[in-house]
Amino acid sequence: MKLFSTALLICTALMAFAQKPQNVILLIGDGMGLSQVSTTFYYKDSDPHFKRFRHIGLVKTSSASNKVTDSAAGATAYASGIKTYNRAIGVDMDTMPVPTIMEELKEKGYCTGLIALCSITHATPGCFYAHVKDRDEHEEIARQLSLAGVDFFAGAGTRYFTKRADEQNSYAVMQKNGYVMDTIQSNKPLEAHKKYGFLLADVEMPSKNNGRDDFLPRTTKAVIDYLDQRSNGKGFFLMSEGSYIDWAGHSKDVEMLIAEQLDFDETIGAALDFAEKDGNTLVIVTADHETGGLSLEKGANKDTIQLTFKTDQHTTPLVPVFVFGPGAENFTGIYENNELQLKLKALLGL
Ligand code: MG
Ligand code: ZN
Repeated sequence: MKLFSTALLICTALMAFAQKPQNVILLIGDGMGLSQVSTTFYYKDSDPHFKRFRHIGLVKTSSASNKVTDSAAGATAYASGIKTYNRAIGVDMDTMPVPTIMEELKEKGYCTGLIALCSITHATPGCFYAHVKDRDEHEEIARQLSLAGVDFFAGAGTRYFTKRADEQNSYAVMQKNGYVMDTIQSNKPLEAHKKYGFLLADVEMPSKNNGRDDFLPRTTKAVIDYLDQRSNGKGFFLMSEGSYIDWAGHSKDVEMLIAEQLDFDETIGAALDFAEKDGNTLVIVTADHETGGLSLEKGANKDTIQLTFKTDQHTTPLVPVFVFGPGAENFTGIYENNELQLKLKALLGL
């Protein structure tokens, strides 16, 4: 314990010398292992945006309960800096709520945003604002989002707001609290003085191959500009998730995987374009775990590769983390998933 606190002190002291970023953009490719990342290098006509990173690390993703994590424990590690049990949303092993980095930054005056392709109450986005024992408590997670004070969110899950067993209407509550709420995708410019909630499908948005347009990169870009204006120098935190990378693995669908991975790469490009121009924004791209045991094997002839999913489950190889911006050098090396959040907090002086 003594050794640990000494190490933490040294770590904090070192961080004090690092340049502190003003804004943080966290992009989570759910289920995105190194093989998934690699597909962009074989299936994109131009250089993948992944190539723009110079600081790269590896993250061990096991949860406190399982060697192979789920997205709930995985996102809780990134949001709250703790290892917990599979299915936990923002709570520890004793089911006690643990503050999230988004909540702590909000307290400090940061603006906050969340984007996902799944329900906004799903495990990955949910862990940044909600605290419940089990990831399936979608209606309670929606209720907690309606009170969380997030400046912007976009995703799916309308039913958990409007068709609830308790007959409450979290959608109406948010409207009453001043949110511009919308269930139809809107390309209208976002106004910095307003708060927004977009619920664009009953349960989840369509996959790329089922007709989703450039929603993820486009919205990520628009929201970065919105948060930049709205925060007016006080800093912002955005989490944007490529949710379908995981689902491609669960359904062993290589076409889906390639389309979703390329879409996520464009999303990374949008974040990096802003961060390069801004010079004061940290971009972190990582995954909660790998899904499907994807392999890139020798194809039918020497110019082709064969993509094969070995399983429809999550797997536990280390996942890559790519970091750009002030303090990025702190994120190289190999560490536990919850340490990523602790490094970020130390860098931000939390
Ligand atoms: Mg997810
Ligand atoms: Zn999954």
